[in-house]
Amino acid sequence: MTAIRDLLDRGPTLSFEFFPPKTTEGRAKLRSTVDRLEKIDPDFVSVTYGAGGSTRETTRETVLDFCEHRTFPAMPHLTCVGHSLAEVHDLIDDYAANGVRNMLALAGDPPDDGSPAPGDFRYALELVEVLRDRSEMSVGVAAFPEVHPRSANRDADRRHLAEKLNASDFGITQFFFDPDHYFRMIEELDARGCTTPVIPGVAPVTNPDSIRRFAGINGSALDEELWARLEATDDIDERLEIAVDAAVRLIGRLIDGGAPGIHLYTLNQAAATVRICERIDIR
Ligand code: FAD
Repeated sequence: MTAIRDLLDRGPTLSFEFFPPKTTEGRAKLRSTVDRLEKIDPDFVSVTYGAGGSTRETTRETVLDFCEHRTFPAMPHLTCVGHSLAEVHDLIDDYAANGVRNMLALAGDPPDDGSPAPGDFRYALELVEVLRDRSEMSVGVAAFPEVHPRSANRDADRRHLAEKLNASDFGITQFFFDPDHYFRMIEELDARGCTTPVIPGVAPVTNPDSIRRFAGINGSALDEELWARLEATDDIDERLEIAVDAAVRLIGRLIDGGAPGIHLYTLNQAAATVRICERIDIR
């Protein structure tokens, strides 16, 4: 399996994100989505991890199934908050033994009630350091162009982000709708001497209600004009076209501005991703 750091060295990458299915129906849906998206020949895909280990088994099964049966490299996400060091060692060793060469190292979210996070980890950088000590994997981390909601301020956010990226091979961002957020973050990282590639994450707004909810949690500003156009129609195909059009324009600006790739949040749906990829040329 190819390391993502090597793929990025060759030029802009195209990648897709999936979540591990919970039910038999969800597994069948993911299989048919991936059957369609595999034809686009993504450089890699990633599979999310439920905070605190709630999808530990299903994330692993999905990643290993992709490794065995698909043509693209698959990267598991791993959140460290709530895990002991011994659990994290076991997970890393197991993935490495199964040929996995990439990992997205995340903190995950602490408990909602404000109590201190259980386990041996607090920040994603600690997981990056364990991965560096314990494996040869290519290590990615999360970046928040509009600043992580728990950051004390913008300066502290960029300081911790630069430190984390300097210890890693690449970053992937939270979704956003105004490319200036991404370019401003890149400039701020550059000013700190951090030039690790950061791949922008793009979420086509196929489900405006759920993207609005996620945006509230992530601190991503909505494009109200886009939402107004989406909410003005009940026609599913027209909505899809509006969402695809907005994503294609955003991707065009990101690639023209020098982004090292595009990571598409598929939400396990094929339609928008297929149409977007028919209209972009990033490789
Ligand atoms: P960190 O980098 O640790 O940062 C968290 C906060 O702590 C930030 O405010 C940071 O500035 C601050 N901080 C960092 N270091 C220090 C320090 N030394 N002192 C003080 N403050 C510090 N969540 C999931 O549960 N599962 C997933 O699969 C998942 N995938 C994701 C994929 C992407 C591309 C992105 C962008 C996010 C994803 N998340 C996922 C969400 C992520 O886990 C949460 O946003 C989490 O709250 C922060 O994770 P992090 O890795 O950015 O944390």
